[in-house]
Amino acid sequence: MEVASVEAIPLRRDLGERFANAQKWIDSREYCLVRIEADDGRVGWGECWGPTAGNRELVEEYVAPFLRGRDPRDVERIHDDLVYELRSSYHSYVPASVVSGVDIALWDLYGKAVGVPVSTLLGGRRRDRVRAYATGHFWGEVEDFEELRTDVVEEAEGHVAAGFDALKNKIGLARHFGWDAEKDVELVRAIREAVGDDVRLMTDANHAYDLADARRVAEELAALDVYFFEEPVPPRNVEHYAALNDAVEVPLAGGECWAFQHEFDRVLDAGAVGYVQPDVTSAGGITSTRRVATMADAANVQCLPHVFGSAVALAASLQVLATIPGGPMLEFDRTPNPIRESLAVDPVTNDGNEVPIPDAPGLGVEIDRDVLAEFRVDV
Ligand code: CA
Repeated sequence: MEVASVEAIPLRRDLGERFANAQKWIDSREYCLVRIEADDGRVGWGECWGPTAGNRELVEEYVAPFLRGRDPRDVERIHDDLVYELRSSYHSYVPASVVSGVDIALWDLYGKAVGVPVSTLLGGRRRDRVRAYATGHFWGEVEDFEELRTDVVEEAEGHVAAGFDALKNKIGLARHFGWDAEKDVELVRAIREAVGDDVRLMTDANHAYDLADARRVAEELAALDVYFFEEPVPPRNVEHYAALNDAVEVPLAGGECWAFQHEFDRVLDAGAVGYVQPDVTSAGGITSTRRVATMADAANVQCLPHVFGSAVALAASLQVLATIPGGPMLEFDRTPNPIRESLAVDPVTNDGNEVPIPDAPGLGVEIDRDVLAEFRVDV
């Protein structure tokens, strides 16, 4: 079995209303899918994190010639070879998102070739369903804090009504709105009061704070029984994570901005987080995410993958989640997203507070070709 062709497929849909987290306004959904076809006609799908620009050119102009003729079943070796090649070619810039998209597509192809789900290839499924937490609670264009708080609380109540008993919201309002950290805490308090004490509540600052503010906010979050405090400070400050994680009662979470086993080794070695969150589309694919999950297990830290992508990223994350030791949860993005919702022939949906994990060969996702054509921007 050999790789015959490698294609990058850019998808984009502008959103009617933009929304924000602590760092940026999001006005479109944009994905670079990777389609790898083998010489026997089988097709594997992958997905790169981030904008299509850059990912697309690297997949088509750099990776395609590198990959043609290689056996997809050598996926883990190819992952490492590709990282070495990119390191040599680009020095300080190793595009982890490109490695990720290619790696996911190769695992999909491998699973389809041998007729088993990727989770089986990774060593076996520990579960067929996984608890899901509803991610969302982004911020729209609002007149004042009261309007924002009302919107976010209404969204939280909607997720609980849909069966979820675990939610994650966004904090770090200062950059876009100029409101101080007291307002962030007020937002979490409003959600806690609306959904009650039985809902697992998590909060995500997208590295909005300096160390002093992060510590003050963390102490308030602990009083609200917040399950974890995600990305309180910038990802470069691993030592700040470690100091904070030691000092405060609420466990820290983080990982979406780190890639490959060497970065996570530093994070886990420092005791930087209570929960580690590699993303399959940016940490180095299924290969690296599985390695991080194994390293986390050895460090006695729960791995809770970060997930925020199309139907391909969701399917790949579910295959890894089937294999993670302990009690992992799926991060289940509930913000409106036409590409995520319609790209799969059978979209993944929650059944109460859980999501079933597909067991079809490969990633277990079938791409709707008409939908793909509708969102494709290069044809
Ligand atoms: Ca996050």
